[in-house]
Amino acid sequence: MKPLHLIILTFMFPFLSHAQSLNTSRIDEIIENQLRDAKRTYTDLHQNPELSLMEFETAKKMAAKLKELGFEVTTGVGGNGVVGVFKNGSGKTILLRTDMDALPIEEKTSLAFASKMITTDFDGKKAPAMHACGHDLHMTTWLGTLKTLTELKNYWKGTIVAIAQPAEEVSGGSNAMIADGLFTRFPKPDYALAYHVSAELPAGTIGYYPGAIFAGVNSIDIHVFGRGGHGAMPHTTIDPVVLASRIVLDIQTIVSREINPVHPAVVTVGSIHGGTKHNIIPDQLDMQLTVRFFSDETYQKILDGLQRIAKGLAISAGLEEEKWPLVQASNQFTPPVVNNAALVMKATQSMKDLLGENNVIQVEPLTVGEDFGKYGRTEEQIPIALFWLGGVSTEKHQDHLKNGTSLPGLHNATFFPDFEPTFKTGVSAMASTMIQLFNEK
Ligand SMILES: [Zn+2]
Ligand SMILES: [Zn+2]
Repeated sequence: MKPLHLIILTFMFPFLSHAQSLNTSRIDEIIENQLRDAKRTYTDLHQNPELSLMEFETAKKMAAKLKELGFEVTTGVGGNGVVGVFKNGSGKTILLRTDMDALPIEEKTSLAFASKMITTDFDGKKAPAMHACGHDLHMTTWLGTLKTLTELKNYWKGTIVAIAQPAEEVSGGSNAMIADGLFTRFPKPDYALAYHVSAELPAGTIGYYPGAIFAGVNSIDIHVFGRGGHGAMPHTTIDPVVLASRIVLDIQTIVSREINPVHPAVVTVGSIHGGTKHNIIPDQLDMQLTVRFFSDETYQKILDGLQRIAKGLAISAGLEEEKWPLVQASNQFTPPVVNNAALVMKATQSMKDLLGENNVIQVEPLTVGEDFGKYGRTEEQIPIALFWLGGVSTEKHQDHLKNGTSLPGLHNATFFPDFEPTFKTGVSAMASTMIQLFNEK
């Protein structure tokens, strides 16, 4: 294996100086030539969004485009997942991921190609659909990068594993693809890369973070029991409304008193439902929580804290053991996206060489979730890196800086990226980074 690498390296070295001029001119030319097609693809995907687990037509489109580019294509991987493999001699294997699903939001942008789609969700209910998280842009940029790399195949050696992932918004897609043999049926990646469009950074820039860039997420249900009775005679009851109120207040101390203050975490109670009438003390109620964390250790502390506090308060209220609260973590656990620091630094160096130091920006981590983190948590321990791709038009961004106008965030009915500069930056930065990674020692 080693001597082969040496041969490839000596073979590749003459191209490394080439790669510099390649970055600025040749890649730009290739992108310019595909811009019209890319706009058509983007418009089509934007107008025809499909909800999580329902990405049937979108997956077909991705598979067809990959075939056109000469990829070996496998469909139906973990549901609607598509895997394309492009072998170009021996060398590294790099996985590039896009997601495909849209959100049940009625679009309120002024775009001529705004989605008017009313579709069916996974549960069979009618729902509007919109690419309000920019996954249409992710797909178009992903295809653009793959096209660029196939056209430049003389400049690198290795294997691309291109994956179009379903069900990111419900956080099951990456797990499903892994469980369906992503790392065993297809070449095992040395690196896994992805973008998420940013609704804050201007087009032409990229955001990075060499560590946990997105939080882990889980939903927790707390079922609180009591002893019901007449609202006029509380002394004959154990009031679960009062007990739940105490739980809400006391669990605030998990983050403020139990977790190291330099490790961010969130515990939010988003819903409490119980009772039927003014004068009846109910015998139970339900609470729904979301928790956010950047490490497994913090997650475990949150979970332990919720269980201990809920149980302790139930005991102090006088409830017997069979009526202690049930604290149940959902199986929709999304781990944090922990970027591999060394990979991020290598990739950002290549992006800075291309876009300029000021356009590749270190950002703060966010407490939202993204299921890309799962690709880095299997036994294969693949180094992963997810980057923010700036998507705000320069004018809107300037107006935001000067006048404080608010920018619609992701998942907002009025969000849309500035397609052309975002696409060009995304494709050129990712293609040149991948070429650099393919060519490294
Ligand atoms: Zn989203
Ligand atoms: Zn998203």
